[in-house]
Amino acid sequence: MAFSVPGLPYDFGALEPHIDALTMEIHHDKHHGAYVANANAALAGTEWSETPVEEILTSLSALPADKQAPVRNNAGGHYNHSLFWESMGPGKGGEPTGALADAIGASFGSFADFQAQLKAAGVGRFGSGWAWLVHNGSGLAIVSTPNQDNPISDGHTPLLGVDVWEHAYYLKYQNRRPDYLDAWWNTVDWDVVAARFAAAS
Ligand code: MN
Repeated sequence: MAFSVPGLPYDFGALEPHIDALTMEIHHDKHHGAYVANANAALAGTEWSETPVEEILTSLSALPADKQAPVRNNAGGHYNHSLFWESMGPGKGGEPTGALADAIGASFGSFADFQAQLKAAGVGRFGSGWAWLVHNGSGLAIVSTPNQDNPISDGHTPLLGVDVWEHAYYLKYQNRRPDYLDAWWNTVDWDVVAARFAAAS
């Protein structure tokens, strides 16, 4: 099965006012759509054309040399955006509870400290990329990746990621990436993140 863009589990305008409807429409349909089309084109006719995306992103060095860069960028883009849409929802935000809240407190000091560190990772990513909360095998960590790289290529499990490419925020926030990151917290679905944490622990 070639990759396809998953439908958004909410309307384009559902994350207003934090993320505007036009940004969501272009981001999902055009940007994610292009990653899927380009990944499928790169993998067509290879022995990897039916391989799950997670396996591809943890096997990049095994791909044909001329496929590695386009697959890294575009299959990575497909995987990252699929995680991103699922991590948000209307009327979400707030704080995690239970085991995830305990682990965040133990790892980062407090939820506010965690938020500050993830924001710093996003603000500090020069150019385009992502900031992530990951499970690194022993516990929680915050990392940042350039372009469409994903922590699974480094052996980590992504629990929550935020897109800091300009296409994710420029229509509403222009150059104010920190303001976008502050608003984005209001969209985070902590139940989804907690489920990923439970599966990774
Ligand atoms: Mn994006």
